Amino acid sequence: MSAPPKEAALKSTLNLPQTAFAMKANLPANEPLRLAAWDSLGLYDRIRAARAGRPRYLLHDGPPYANGAIHLGHALNKCIKDFVVKSKTMAGFDAPYVPGWDCHGLPIEIKVDEHLGRKKLEMDPLAVRRACREYAQKFLDIQRTQFIRLGVFGRWQQPYSTMSHQYEAAILESFYYFYEHGFVYKDLRPVSWCIHDRTALAEAEVEYEQHTSPSVYVRYLLKSSPADLDGALAGRRVATIIWTTTPWTLPASLAVAFHPDLEYVALDHDGTAYIVAEPLAEATRAACNMPAAPIIARFKGTALDRAVFQHPFLDRDILGVLADYVTTDQGTGCVHTAPAHGVDDFRTGRKYGLPVTFYVDNAGRQSNTGGMPYEGLNVFKSNPEIIKLLVEKGALLNSPTDQITHSYPHCWRCHKPVIVRATEQWFIRMETPVGDSTFRQVALDEIKKVKWDPAWGEERISNMIATRPDWCISRQRIWGVPIAVFLCEKCNLPLRNPAVNASVVARFQSEGADAWYAHDTSVLLPDDTECECGHSGFRKEMDILDVWFESGASWHAVLDAEPGLAPPADLYTEGGDQHRGWFHSSLLCSVGMRGVAPYKMVATSGWTLDEQGRAMSKSLGNVVDPVDIANRLGAEIVRLWVASVDFREDVAASENLMQRVSDNYRKLRNTFRFLLGSIGDFSPATNAIPFKQMQPLDQYMLARTAQVAERIRRAYDDFEFHRVYHALNEFCNTELSALYLDVLKDRLYTFAPDSPARRSAQTALWCIAETLVRLVAPILSFTADEVWQLLPAVEGREPSVHIAEFPSADSICPSDSISITAKWGIVIALRSGALSQLEALRAGGKIGKALEAKVRVTGNSKGDQLRDLIAYESALPELYGASQVEIVHDEKADMGTVTFAASLADGAKCERCWRYTTDVASETKYPTVCARCASALVALNFPAYTAPEPK
Ligand SMILES: [Zn+2]
Ligand SMILES: [Zn+2]
Ligand SMILES: [Zn+2]
Repeated sequence: MSAPPKEAALKSTLNLPQTAFAMKANLPANEPLRLAAWDSLGLYDRIRAARAGRPRYLLHDGPPYANGAIHLGHALNKCIKDFVVKSKTMAGFDAPYVPGWDCHGLPIEIKVDEHLGRKKLEMDPLAVRRACREYAQKFLDIQRTQFIRLGVFGRWQQPYSTMSHQYEAAILESFYYFYEHGFVYKDLRPVSWCIHDRTALAEAEVEYEQHTSPSVYVRYLLKSSPADLDGALAGRRVATIIWTTTPWTLPASLAVAFHPDLEYVALDHDGTAYIVAEPLAEATRAACNMPAAPIIARFKGTALDRAVFQHPFLDRDILGVLADYVTTDQGTGCVHTAPAHGVDDFRTGRKYGLPVTFYVDNAGRQSNTGGMPYEGLNVFKSNPEIIKLLVEKGALLNSPTDQITHSYPHCWRCHKPVIVRATEQWFIRMETPVGDSTFRQVALDEIKKVKWDPAWGEERISNMIATRPDWCISRQRIWGVPIAVFLCEKCNLPLRNPAVNASVVARFQSEGADAWYAHDTSVLLPDDTECECGHSGFRKEMDILDVWFESGASWHAVLDAEPGLAPPADLYTEGGDQHRGWFHSSLLCSVGMRGVAPYKMVATSGWTLDEQGRAMSKSLGNVVDPVDIANRLGAEIVRLWVASVDFREDVAASENLMQRVSDNYRKLRNTFRFLLGSIGDFSPATNAIPFKQMQPLDQYMLARTAQVAERIRRAYDDFEFHRVYHALNEFCNTELSALYLDVLKDRLYTFAPDSPARRSAQTALWCIAETLVRLVAPILSFTADEVWQLLPAVEGREPSVHIAEFPSADSICPSDSISITAKWGIVIALRSGALSQLEALRAGGKIGKALEAKVRVTGNSKGDQLRDLIAYESALPELYGASQVEIVHDEKADMGTVTFAASLADGAKCERCWRYTTDVASETKYPTVCARCASALVALNFPAYTAPEPK
C-alpha cells in the first residue's frame, strides 16, 4: 500500500475528452487545404458516381455575367444553389450541377471599347471580338476561383459559357428554329434606344429614374376650313396647342392626336381660337398665360379627324388624327405625334398611312435636317435650338425656360436617359400561332404549371408575358452571336433556306460565331443560291442577338446537350428581377421551341442590403465583400450567413452581422468538439450499446435527435435554410450544450471507461455526431468534412461526408420509441424547479457546488408529474447535477404539481468524482473515493493506497 495519491494522480484516472478537432478553427488557412484535398480526391466526380442511377434532381445554373469579381449577391445566389444541390445529394438524389457564365453583350464590349479607345475604329471585328473574349475569360476564371473558394461544388472544370463554340452554335440553332417556324420578322419599329451605347434596349434593360425636361406648349395653326369644326369658328384664325417634354421630336412631328369621345373647346385669345380638351382648358389657360380666354366653340374630338394643321417651323402639313390613348391627365388633350419616336405614335401613324420620317441617327444626333440650326446636335442638346426656333416663329405659348422633373426611362447599363427611335429590328412575334393557340397564350398556360416560390412570382411573370410587346431580338453591336441571315442585295428579302442555315450552324460548331465575321458570303453560301426574286447576290445581316435570347436558350445549349441533364430542370433560382430577365427569356425560348416551360419550379431571392436597408456601395462604405470575409473569417462564415437569412426576402449583411454569425459558428464548432472529445475512446463496432439497453436519458436524447433531424430534413426539402440554421442552433445550444452535454460529464469522465452506462452515453453522442455532421454538411461543408475525418472509424464508410446520405429518423431512434419524448418532456420541464432550489442554497452560502447538495422532490404519486419523475428516478441526480435525489410520497399533496427542496447532501465527498455519497471508503484499497469510483480504479489497475492521516 502506497501513500495517499496526489490530486493529480486521481485526476489522471478520469476519462477526459480527447480529440484532434481544434477549438480554434483557423478557417482562412484550413479551408484552402481542404479544397485541395477534395480536389485530389476528385470529390465532385465521386459524388456523381455514387449517385449514378438514382432519381435525378436538376438545378440549372443561371449564368452570372463575366465582367467583374463576385459580390455578395453572387455569393448568396451560389450558396443557395449549393445548399440545394448538396441537400438533394444527401437526400439520395443524383443532383448534378453545371455552373455557367454569360459572356457576350454590351457591358464587356463597352469595357473593351474603353480600353481600346480610338484604336477600335481601325480594328476588324474579329480582333475586337478576340479582345472581348479574353476579357470575359479573365473574369470567368476569377469568378470560378472565387466560387470554388466559397466551397461551392460543381463541374467547375467543365462549366458552360455562352461564348463556347458549342453554345454559340446552339444559340444560332435556336434562332433558326424561331426563324424557320414563322416567329421572326424584321420591321421598322420604335424601340428604346441608348444613344450612349448606340443600341436598342430590351424592355428589361430600361429603368425609370428622375429626369428634368423642357416643358413646351406649341401652337399648330389650322390650315383646313375652321367651319368644318364648328360654325362659330368660320372665318377665324384657329390653332391647336400641343404639349411636349421632348421638343427634339418636333422635327419628326406628322400628326396631332385627339380623343374621339372627348369634348374640345376653342379658347379665344389675341385674335386666335385655340383648340384644347375641355377638362384641360383651365390648366392650359394658366400655362399659356391666357387666363381670361373665353370659350367660343365646343365640339367632339371626332370633328378634328383629318383636319390639317401647319407644322410650327417646317414646311409640312400636320394631320389631325383620332386615338383613344389620349388622356386628360396632363397637357392639352392634343397630342403631337411623331411616328418615329413613340410606340403609340407609330401605331397611329400606321393606321393613318403616315410615313415614318426620322432624322435621329444611332448616336442620337439630328441629321439630314436640310440645314436647320439644330443639325448635327445630340437630341438633348437640340432642345434649346428648337425652343429658340419656336419662339422666333411665335409658336411657343409658354415660357421658354419652363421645365418639368418626371420619371423618365434610362439605360440600365449607363444610366443615361434613353430615347424612343424607329429602327429596323428583328422581332419574335408574341401572337405567332402555335397549334390552336398563340405563342403568348401557350407561355401563359405553361406559367400555371410551374411552382413559383414565393408565390407572387407567378402573377408577376404572367403580367409581364401578357402585356409585353413583340420581342426585339436584334442589337447593333459586335460581341455576341450574329443573326446569321443572308439578305438579298437586290430586293433586301432575307433568305429562308433550312439547309443553308444548318450549314452555318455546323460552321459555328467548329469555328464559333467568329465564322460569320471571318468568311464572305461566297464561302458561307453554296454557289447556286438564289433569292426568290432571281438575284444571286447576298449580304450578311450584321446585327447580333439580344443576350437574353442567348441565356434564355441555355436549357437547349446546356441541358439538351447531355442526356443526364435533359430538360426540364427541377429548379431555376435567381434574384427576383429575373422574372423580366432569365426566367422570362428561358420560358419564351423553351415554349417557342418545345411548347413547354424549361423548369418545374422557380425560386427567387431578394437583394443584399446593409443593416439599414440600403444598397451596398463604395461611397456608403457598407460593402460586404464575400471574398474578403472568406479570407478573414472563413468561407464557412459566408455560407452560414446565407443559411441564417430567409433568401426570399431582401437580406441584410454587414461586418457586424458577419461577426455575429462567426460567434454562432464557434458555438456549433464547440458542440462538435465536445462530441468528438467524448467519444475519443469509443469504437462503434465493439462499444456500441443497443438502443433498448441504453440509459433512459440517452434514449430520450436520441429520440429528440430523430425529431430534430426530421424537422431539418423537411426544412431542406422546402429550401427553408434559415429554419435549418435556427433548428441547428437551438438544438446545439439549448438541448445539447446547456443540458445533455453538461449533465453527461460525470458519467463520461468518472465512470469506468468500459462501464455500460458510459458506453450508453457514448453511443448516443456518437449517433448524435453522425447525425449532426450530415445535417450541417450542405451548409458547413468544410467543418462537416473536418468532423467526418475525426469521427470513430466505421468500416466501409464514405471518404467524405459529402458522399454520405442524410440519416433516416429510425436509424437514430426506433420509431416505436419516439413516444418517450412525451414523458421526458415533463421531466425536463420540471428540472428548473430543482435548479432554482440549488441556486438558492448556493446563493445563501450553504454550498459551493450543486454536488454538495441533495434534492428532495415531494408530490402525490397518483399525479402524472411525480409518476414520470419516479420512472426516471435513477437519472435525476445526473440531470440536476446534485449528489442525491430523494422522492417523498405525500398522498395529501396536490396531484397537479410537485415541490422541490435542496439541502446538504448525505455522506462524504469522493476525492475523485466530488460527489457526496455514503459509500466513500467502502473499498479499502481506495479509502478516499466512492464505491463507483473504486470500481473505476479497479478497472484501471490503479495501485492501492492508504487513507491520509486525519488533520
Ligand atoms: Zn446606355
Ligand atoms: Zn431578292
Ligand atoms: Zn466517486
